[in-house]
Amino acid sequence: MNIEIKELSKVYPNGHAAIQGINLEIGSGMFGLLGPNGAGKSSLMRILVTLQKATGGSIHMDGLDINQHRKKIRPWIGYLPQDFTFFNKLKTWEFLDYAAMLSSDLGKKKRIAEVDSMLDQVGLLDVRERQANKLSGGMKRRLGIAQALIGNPRLLVIDEPTTGLDPEERIRFRNILSDLSQKDVTIILSTHIVGDISSTCNNMAMLNKGEVAFSGAPEGMIDQVKNHVWQVTVEDEDFTDLKSKYSVVSTIPVEGSWETQLISMEKPHPEAFNIQPNLEHAYVFFMENELGVSLV
Ligand code: ADP
Repeated sequence: MNIEIKELSKVYPNGHAAIQGINLEIGSGMFGLLGPNGAGKSSLMRILVTLQKATGGSIHMDGLDINQHRKKIRPWIGYLPQDFTFFNKLKTWEFLDYAAMLSSDLGKKKRIAEVDSMLDQVGLLDVRERQANKLSGGMKRRLGIAQALIGNPRLLVIDEPTTGLDPEERIRFRNILSDLSQKDVTIILSTHIVGDISSTCNNMAMLNKGEVAFSGAPEGMIDQVKNHVWQVTVEDEDFTDLKSKYSVVSTIPVEGSWETQLISMEKPHPEAFNIQPNLEHAYVFFMENELGVSLV
């Protein structure tokens, strides 16, 4: 699926401009949408899945304008919103069967087979009889992805995929998505957690205040911070000094000293040396140097 977003804007009735002239092209595979809270990610997601309309610009999916071809495009899309909840009292399989009924016209037998195959894919077959709202947080999130996938969507949109998940579930959830991206599905992940993107997405955009601050491969963003990430181990006094002058991204206490990683355009300390940057460093660099947002 090819998605072309042109000059997109969204002004809410209260006058707030949540999206301001966004241009993006999104192809198959995993696409990450990164940005701090309030950047406009959820607004963009809701427009993409046709739950709300933009106030300006256009989106085309495989050449079709999503406003003019809503009916045709809707079945192509699976959506997992951030605040996804279940109906009370439905068993896990019943909930998924209900979602399947809404998104396909399969007969009952085929539908149940499809439901069980999907439960198996997300590792929930063992708990198919358990009440959906009694599943653990991670299991609920996986059931959420199953309901988004049940109609075989060509576009899967997931808002804040790993919020509230423990590390093990987070990895499991990422692996499910990564398997899916091997198929010809476009997956858009919207997140404020840098780690959700670095490990899985081949393309990304960073939003800030409704605008695209960066778009391209994560490596491209990392490249821009090359030579600006430093490491130095210092004692208390120097550490306080560094903290007051630079963006310190991590500190580890080592035998009474501080192993410090920080971002600076020039060498911040005589003993500092450059280290290989990662996407987290690039995010801090971008937010602080390019956009003037103080993160640390
Ligand atoms: P994100 O998902 O990146 O946190 P959102 O799209 O939720 O960003 O919000 C972007 C901005 O738009 C925020 O300032 C938010 O308060 C505002 N906003 C979101 N929804 C509405 C709405 N329905 N009415 C007015 N303002 C809104």
